[in-house]
Amino acid sequence: MRVLLAEDDIMLGEALQEALMKQGFVVDWMKDGNSALHALQSEHFDLAILDLGLPRRDGMEVLSELRRLGNDLPVLILTARDTLDARVAGLDAGADDYLLKPFDMAELSARLRALLRRRAGRAHTTIQHEDIVLDPASQQVTCKGQPVVLPRREYMLLKELLEHVGEVLTRDRLETSLYGWMDEVESNSLEVHIHHLRKKFHPELIRTLRGVGYMIPKPADKPADH
Ligand code: CA
Repeated sequence: MRVLLAEDDIMLGEALQEALMKQGFVVDWMKDGNSALHALQSEHFDLAILDLGLPRRDGMEVLSELRRLGNDLPVLILTARDTLDARVAGLDAGADDYLLKPFDMAELSARLRALLRRRAGRAHTTIQHEDIVLDPASQQVTCKGQPVVLPRREYMLLKELLEHVGEVLTRDRLETSLYGWMDEVESNSLEVHIHHLRKKFHPELIRTLRGVGYMIPKPADKPADH
């Protein structure tokens, strides 16, 4: 899960970045509206957190432009403007949710999970696939009821694949959901993570589509003899 954070307050930005990373998000942090819009137009993100008061282009303009371009990713706006007008305008401009500053990190995390859940069309808070259950709130994974401990990137990769069961996710897409712009990506690291996940769950859990990417097949797509 990759999140674009647009916030010009350095202390708040750092706190947000840390809290989001602990929640298993890859965070790209932009400090002005133009950089935020540019990043949103050129990369895949799963959601955006936009501060309304940003230099160069305010959050409302970034949001309006994003929607005008047809980008419908979930957006949560942060606003210090405690007026009904600002909130209504934000929602009218296409925000999915908003939080008034100052806010509690636990509340922000819960709102983000709810946004992603709604986007994925899931009524449940956990993601279940056959005998695997992943709980985004606690970041715990179980298989056949037994806890499976996963390092951060394996957890993120499994979550990304489980949220798109039946869809092929390209290498690029998976790498951008695991690594931010500033991270170094080792050329074979994705294969290594996939290998570990297969070993920890089932060898056939993740299907490789050579030259394209990876997918977790829907149960019905599996060969009849399984
Ligand atoms: Ca600000």
